[in-house]
Amino acid sequence: MTAIEAAGLRYEYPDGTVGLDDVDVTVDRGERVALLGPNGAGKSTLLGVLGGLLDPDAGTRRYFGAAVPPEEVRDRVSVLTQDPSEYLFNPTVREDMEYGPAQLDLPPAVVDDRVARLADRLGLKGLLDRPPFCLSGGQQRRAALASALTVDPDVLLLDEPVSNVDAANRAAVLRLLAEWHDDGVTTVVSTPDTELVPHVADRVYLLDGDGTVAAVGPTREVLTDRDLLASCDLAVPQVVELFDRAGADRVPLTVDEAVDALDPAGLTADSPDATAGSPDAPADDRDDGDTAAGPPDATTDGWD
Ligand code: ADP
Repeated sequence: MTAIEAAGLRYEYPDGTVGLDDVDVTVDRGERVALLGPNGAGKSTLLGVLGGLLDPDAGTRRYFGAAVPPEEVRDRVSVLTQDPSEYLFNPTVREDMEYGPAQLDLPPAVVDDRVARLADRLGLKGLLDRPPFCLSGGQQRRAALASALTVDPDVLLLDEPVSNVDAANRAAVLRLLAEWHDDGVTTVVSTPDTELVPHVADRVYLLDGDGTVAAVGPTREVLTDRDLLASCDLAVPQVVELFDRAGADRVPLTVDEAVDALDPAGLTADSPDATAGSPDAPADDRDDGDTAAGPPDATTDGWD
């Protein structure tokens, strides 16, 4: 079943700038999709149109299989824009987090529980009673994310959710997204960062600089296509670059995948340079003829 189906989307800003031109997007229930593209490609515009914040000049949108206006699915589709102030307008972070559920008339105990759980996961426990405008930019982004999540949406549309967020909290946000995905929540994340995509998406819509979709495909396919990414002013992730240049058959997308792919025994034994280049290697071992298989021994045991 589809979560969102959009076809022929066009959006033009009042000054005549075309944000989107003839864009089709389909997101299935439970899917993790990335909208990837360079700055100005139309990612935020597309996210806004899909999430019902912007009305397209042309095209259709369907939610959960029905041609209903986005207002009717407001409680099921949550959008987090890049501007935290759109979510933080109450005297305290806690009240901002309670705002969405309050609109849905949820029992206070449920709301309290959600606020406590999200505050804990997003490192906001000590900030709940602070005025949002007194928070740092990264803290505000986390508070805004928490406010978008307290309604417990079926679909989450996130515009660059970890930009301007430090490493520890980036990890926390990614963990939370993974947990929500495990719970069946559909996520659409926009980003210009090819390093982030493998962590948040199984399928990618690649937008070029003209507000059109340059390619759609599985994350691995898009992120290993150097020429395609370069045509959109993007580069392959660093791990892909490394393994590609090293001539690997199967290229990992993330450090974790690379660690799995790196068999230390295979590395030392497979690498002719590991022994041939070593002044300490016995003459026989410098002939790399047959050293590819088998565990490393004392003469072939390292990079040095
Ligand atoms: P991205 O999110 O990929 O960086 P945007 O969706 O923000 O791209 O922008 C797409 C295009 O629309 C860009 O050319 C941008 O300059 C333009 N644009 C964005 N917001 C506005 C606006 N408020 N008024 C006019 N043009 C805009």
